[in-house]
Amino acid sequence: MLATADRFEAHFPERNGSLRSRFSLLTDGAVYNLLVIVVVGAGPAGLASAAMLRRRVSDVVVFERGVVGAAWTTRYDRLHLHTVRWLSCLPGYRIPREFGKWPSRDRVIEYLERYADHHDLDVRSGVEVDRIERSNGAWSVVAGSDTVEAQRVVVACGHSNVPYLPDWPGTFRGTTVHSADYRNPVPYAGQRVLVVGAGNSGAEIAVDLVEGGTTEVSIAVRTPPSIVRRDTLGVPSQLLGIATAHLPVPIVDRIAATMRRISIPDLKAQGLPAPQRPYSDFLYRRVIPILDVGIVDAVRRGRVRIVPAIERFEDGAALLEGGSRLDVDAVIAATGYRPGLERLVGDLGVLDERGVPLVHGAGEHPDAPGLHFVGYEVLLGGAFRLAGIRAKQLARAVA
Ligand SMILES: Cc1cc2nc3c(=O)[nH]c(=O)nc-3n(C[C@H](O)[C@H](O)[C@H](O)COP(=O)(O)OP(=O)(O)OC[C@H]3O[C@@H](n4cnc5c(N)ncnc54)[C@H](O)[C@@H]3O)c2cc1C
Repeated sequence: MLATADRFEAHFPERNGSLRSRFSLLTDGAVYNLLVIVVVGAGPAGLASAAMLRRRVSDVVVFERGVVGAAWTTRYDRLHLHTVRWLSCLPGYRIPREFGKWPSRDRVIEYLERYADHHDLDVRSGVEVDRIERSNGAWSVVAGSDTVEAQRVVVACGHSNVPYLPDWPGTFRGTTVHSADYRNPVPYAGQRVLVVGAGNSGAEIAVDLVEGGTTEVSIAVRTPPSIVRRDTLGVPSQLLGIATAHLPVPIVDRIAATMRRISIPDLKAQGLPAPQRPYSDFLYRRVIPILDVGIVDAVRRGRVRIVPAIERFEDGAALLEGGSRLDVDAVIAATGYRPGLERLVGDLGVLDERGVPLVHGAGEHPDAPGLHFVGYEVLLGGAFRLAGIRAKQLARAVA
């Protein structure tokens, strides 16, 4: 049987020279090898963390189950960054100006690939980490039949890692997909489609369907969402989110409610009343406001109908709260995601009751020193931007 280092090299093709040459073997059986830092996940958070850590620590390896930017390679065709280019750059390499103000999905993937190259990151693609375990004051990272020992581990597998599909009672004869599996409106031409959930994905998919020839598009809404213009007179709303982050909650509530009143038409009659305390709602639900890329107009013109939340299915119909019935051919569940960290670190006592890490970035749980989480906070300033900030803080703390 091959020693772990050999098996590791065989399984995970090298990129930046031999991993083996950088191993300190802890036992003569070569059961474990010591890498200094393992980052799990090569999305924006993992790449930014690896890039910043590499400036201070020589051995940083990124394990990625797919490819660099994997989550973006499967997102819907019309997706563009909702956050503006210059506030979405990861540290140490800017998004090129020619990628536009709101870079497209493919440009985001290109940027992440260029980012990894620019920082010469050692990304091992096709390595899915199964478990992270304590090991003699360090950490064992278990990937299939291989185990690598690391002094520190940065978990960056994505807040939106596992699609969440509610288990609605009843049976539905039409098709149901999660928004993670939606690509474009082509399969839905001529159909009646119900989108469930009024977050950014649900709102944008509804607009995509309307523009793509879907006969009837409805959105099932349980809690009326906050809606903001993506930008006003060229100023992105994201800036407001950053600028107000440290103000008292009632003041931000008032600013947000006023912005909604002056910039978005009243959609109460269509079923989308403005929340009274939008910022308090955000802090409670941690759902990013809809950045309008066409939903306001589509709802106002009646091209997208707002309906109550689904209660159950019955044959070809959705039965809605309040007792109404909606006949539909397909359901697209824009019902969000879960971090899905239980498998990796569920027994370490580092997650809260929703499965979200209790510490972030440079923070370390007292029971799990050397274990970090980047990319699991939901704030208003943009997740790319925040990942960069946390990555820099982490690298400073580690150094
Ligand atoms: C539709 C959509 C649009 C968004 N638009 C914006 C936007 O405009 N601006 C913004 O700032 N944010 C946006 N976000 C939020 C967030 O910035 C992105 O989701 C971003 O990709 C998160 O980066 P991440 O690195 O934390 O996670 P991800 O991009 O999800 O990367 C995690 C990586 O970890 C890998 N991985 C997972 N589990 C394992 C494992 N066990 N072993 C090895 N690898 C693993 C995955 O394959 C993936 O490559 C959007 C999110 C969604 C869902």
